[in-house]
Amino acid sequence: MTEPAPGTLLEAARALRTGSVTAAGLDRALRVAADTRAADLGCFTWRAGDDDAAPDTACPAEAHPLWGIGGLVKDNICVRGRPTGCGSRMLAGWRPPYDATVVERLVDRGARILGGTVMDEFGMGSSTEHAAGGPARNPHDTTRVPGGSSGGAAAAVAAGLAYFALGSDTGGSVRQPAHCCGVVGLRPTYGRVSRFGLVAFASSLDQIGPLARTVADCALVFSAVAGHDPRDATSLDAPAEGMPDPAAGDPAGLTVGVPRGLVDRVDADTAADFETTQARLRDLGVTLVDVALPDPEAMLAAYYVIATAEASTNLARFDGACYGARLPGDDYLETVGRTRAAGFGREVKRRILLGTFVLSEGYREAYYDRARRARDRIRGAYHRVLADCDAIATPTAPTAAFPLGARLDDPLSMYRGDVFTVGPSLAGLPALSVPTGRDRDGLPLSVQLTGRPLDEGTLFTLGAAVERGRGDPA
Ligand code: GLN
Repeated sequence: MTEPAPGTLLEAARALRTGSVTAAGLDRALRVAADTRAADLGCFTWRAGDDDAAPDTACPAEAHPLWGIGGLVKDNICVRGRPTGCGSRMLAGWRPPYDATVVERLVDRGARILGGTVMDEFGMGSSTEHAAGGPARNPHDTTRVPGGSSGGAAAAVAAGLAYFALGSDTGGSVRQPAHCCGVVGLRPTYGRVSRFGLVAFASSLDQIGPLARTVADCALVFSAVAGHDPRDATSLDAPAEGMPDPAAGDPAGLTVGVPRGLVDRVDADTAADFETTQARLRDLGVTLVDVALPDPEAMLAAYYVIATAEASTNLARFDGACYGARLPGDDYLETVGRTRAAGFGREVKRRILLGTFVLSEGYREAYYDRARRARDRIRGAYHRVLADCDAIATPTAPTAAFPLGARLDDPLSMYRGDVFTVGPSLAGLPALSVPTGRDRDGLPLSVQLTGRPLDEGTLFTLGAAVERGRGDPA
């Protein structure tokens, strides 16, 4: 039998249904693709082997569209018995005894988890260079970063090694790598997708979100994993299954806000591409309006204070006693010190130091409490804008994927790349990154669409329209 070309998730689902391919055939095709590109892209932490190949049975008539479809999960999402290392030496070789809720939901619907993907350590980074076993590379140009922290996931999906991947997004880690690799990425409304089985970075910001090659594929995976979970105290009771087909939605009549002063923050190709996207939306009958959001620098500052503060407490559990690696010393403190010195990488140590500082006696008020107040104001500003607008559009990032190493020694320049993605995170809002075009080097550029709480549907409608209008598919 000839191996089927990957195509889109929905095309593969249709092919399975009509019987023109089998799940085993799809698995084989993805395995061949992965064999060819895996070493080059450095995107996998583990891959399913021959022992868990799909059965050669027909797709049951009542099966979910994800039945037989191969996907991947980021290295911080627990899959029972599989390595879940969070890109860290601290958790190298750890195999969780349980599945994350999202994994359970995928497997219940018949999806196949074909591997784990490389990430920046504990999600801290925008390039997948801060990764044990990394870096991952961009399939459009392997001298460039794939973005981060879900860089391995984005690279694998863009290269056609899986139909979708689940990443996690704290301040942009699904959207920014999706942008760098030219795929679609969704950060869902905070609470809409269970975090049970996601290793925590910053709990008030972390969300699991899908990456896929089309908006419709991304919407399908989102609807499969969303829904209430009693094992996550912040989980909302807002199932998304049975959502209308996003490709069928008409964006005419919607209002989209465009924050002022954006062009000063992006490079020339990004600015030109964003202009084209706005013209495309206008042609579709969307009304674009100028809106004011807080200074992006203030959003970045608030994010990097809150995220590091939460990370410093979340990562305190890795003490050499209960979880992960242990380098024994003569007493408890020496064991903790040796374990953490060897187990954590540079960026994680920087974040723990920053986070501990902003929470410490005498500084907490000046930094952490102030950032919390700024966050309330940022949330308020987004909600005011979204009272009048159905969505907000910005570029996903100020530039296309940058060269490997370019920002490694300059953490602030790395952090600045998150200037458009941290706002929706702080406000708990859904945000979708959709490829829109390419820069002069042929690298993908994207729009970020931010919506009202629980209104991922409108983002899919707008995103699918942008995607239809885009000439060259990513
Ligand atoms: N790049 C951001 C950071 O380093 C976002 C990371 C994320 O969303 N996990 O914190």
